[in-house]
Amino acid sequence: MCKKTDPEGRKMISKSQHVVTILGVGPRGLSILERINAFAATRGTAISKIYLIDPSVPGCGVHMPEQPDHLLINTVASQVTIFPDDTCRNSGPVLPGPSLYDWSREQGYRWTEDGHIIRGEGRDIDQNEYLPRALLGKYLHWAFDKFTKSLSEHCEIVSIASDALELNEKNGGYLIELRNKQTIETDFVFLTTGHSENEYSAKELEMLDLVSQGQKKNPDLSYFNSAYPLARNLSTVRRDHVVAIEGFGLTAMDVISELTINRGGKFQQRNTSGDLVYEPSGNEPKLLVYSRDGFPLSARATNQKGATGQHQAVYFTMAKVKSLKEQYQKLDFEQQVLPLILIEMQLVYYRKLFVQVFKKPESEFSKFLNSNNIIEPDWASAALLFPESLRFNWQKMLNPTEGCKFENSTEFKNWLFDFISDDLNEARRGNETSPIKAACDVLRDTRDTLRACVDFGGLNEESHSHFLKIYSSILNRLAVGPPKERTAQVLALIDAGILQADFGTLPQVRVDVVAGKFQIYSTAFSVKNEAHSDFLIVSRIQPNVALADKSPLMKSMVELGTIRPFLNKSFCPGGIDIDPNFNVIDFQGRKNLSIWALGTIAEGPKYYTFILPRPGVNSTAINDAGKCVQGLLAQIELREGNQYRKAS
Ligand SMILES: Cc1cc2nc3c(=O)[nH]c(=O)nc-3n(C[C@H](O)[C@H](O)[C@H](O)COP(=O)(O)OP(=O)(O)OC[C@H]3O[C@@H](n4cnc5c(N)ncnc54)[C@H](O)[C@@H]3O)c2cc1C
Repeated sequence: MCKKTDPEGRKMISKSQHVVTILGVGPRGLSILERINAFAATRGTAISKIYLIDPSVPGCGVHMPEQPDHLLINTVASQVTIFPDDTCRNSGPVLPGPSLYDWSREQGYRWTEDGHIIRGEGRDIDQNEYLPRALLGKYLHWAFDKFTKSLSEHCEIVSIASDALELNEKNGGYLIELRNKQTIETDFVFLTTGHSENEYSAKELEMLDLVSQGQKKNPDLSYFNSAYPLARNLSTVRRDHVVAIEGFGLTAMDVISELTINRGGKFQQRNTSGDLVYEPSGNEPKLLVYSRDGFPLSARATNQKGATGQHQAVYFTMAKVKSLKEQYQKLDFEQQVLPLILIEMQLVYYRKLFVQVFKKPESEFSKFLNSNNIIEPDWASAALLFPESLRFNWQKMLNPTEGCKFENSTEFKNWLFDFISDDLNEARRGNETSPIKAACDVLRDTRDTLRACVDFGGLNEESHSHFLKIYSSILNRLAVGPPKERTAQVLALIDAGILQADFGTLPQVRVDVVAGKFQIYSTAFSVKNEAHSDFLIVSRIQPNVALADKSPLMKSMVELGTIRPFLNKSFCPGGIDIDPNFNVIDFQGRKNLSIWALGTIAEGPKYYTFILPRPGVNSTAINDAGKCVQGLLAQIELREGNQYRKAS
């Protein structure tokens, strides 16, 4: 039965069946479901049936409810939601619901003393805390249940726990082959298959070959080109092993946590400022961490902005980007975008520094500039009013080791310890109080403006490539690092001799086939530092690259020409090609008005697709889903010929 109402609220019967399929019901697929539900409940849709296809617990995506509680979300509890609110513009009707924080409290979840979240006795959850991803999974699955129950009053809902292997056109619609041998027929498809697993690259195959030779000497020698799933990939690590972790970002933090906390180790408070001491369980391996930079992402500062607070940009604004695009069509990140970002960051930096140095309220900052004859944004002149050592130093932020010369690993280790400790101290001051953390938070708060520069090949080809190669990871390092508690844990593990991260910048790794070990060695010191490991875990999220994707569905869609990789001229940043309405573009360049793709599968034409919706900030994830679902409803209306017959 398809129910629809006309603008006067009369029930209509649609002329035909309209079957919709969501392939992949992680957070992005769930947002599509949420939007369809909101339209169905408020205005009605002519959708007769919805297939929800996902082999995992529906709703959760990578945030599986059964993972251990030590694996944390990287966003504070009050800043995660799956529901839209009145700030969401052009996404359709708003049916409000609880944020992750509100839901967790409503459901009676509390922290136990040993760091678990349970329903029952314990400490209250705080809105600024980082909750376990398992709890996020439960929230998302709860939302899935809520939407499907509500939608089942309007159309048939079929949820199938399997993955799609093939999608073929048939009679103007599609046939989808599932792994469980079922075939489903559908008119419309949402591709929200999320994070990908890629085929091994030539370099990785070479590594695997050397590893298999090394296994003759050391049968435990193991290489993983992805850390996930942690439980599987790290299960064979023993206490007498040495594990090399390539990368010092969020995934590395997961691996470290899995091999310490999950092995029974405990972090105890050393003092009231949050410094920690690690008590080993004796079951943890020795960890070697190395990365291109040699140091970790900056710690996420204590949130002082509540659930919805954001810096309101003055210079790096949507209006400015729009006028730049009118002037240049394609932008150059270094020439046109970065200068605006730096002006915006310095505005915030010097405002906060003014408070810190002169002990006056922020509201007097403009007066202070006027009285010194400084006209905004002449930050170079403003800087001279502050002690040299405290001035905004972008060069140092880009490259903290610039100008440092390390003779040996001990010198680097000492530098690293101070560098992390300083960063941690700033993080503890908070994202409103610390000038540097407030300035870096600008990057997070203006992410939509940056997206407007980058999305759909907004940067010219060379600049796009340079931006992704160089700047994107630097901006991530500065703005979206791990919770500060994780950084404190890294220091405690270095102190305890469990974690070694003294390889400096640009270290190298090779397989010592004769010894049956990985060899990690420094290249940045006069005296070489080297260490050996039994495991090598590449701790980075794999990028979505259509032509490298392991998934049979992606392979078959590429082969059939249903999708094609996105190209900015000849540069391929990853992701599949879509138009600004999220309709996929096929190999011949035709847009398909019945298939939409969103989320990480389209990370390339879109930028920064992998964050969860946030309340109160006109969430991009919700807007994108709203746009897709409105596109779907428009297509259905077209097929209905805009004619409705009165319900009899
Ligand atoms: C380990 C990890 C931690 C993260 N932590 C955070 C965080 O703290 N905060 C944050 O904002 N973001 C985080 N992210 C980013 C993450 O991208 C988003 O939170 C979110 O999960 C993206 O949702 P998605 O639906 O696009 O993708 P996914 O979460 O990957 O979901 C995709 C779904 O599609 C299904 N699927 C795949 N292929 C098929 C197929 N052929 N047929 C049917 N179903 C299929 C999968 O089973 C999965 O359920 C994290 C990512 C990872 C990998």
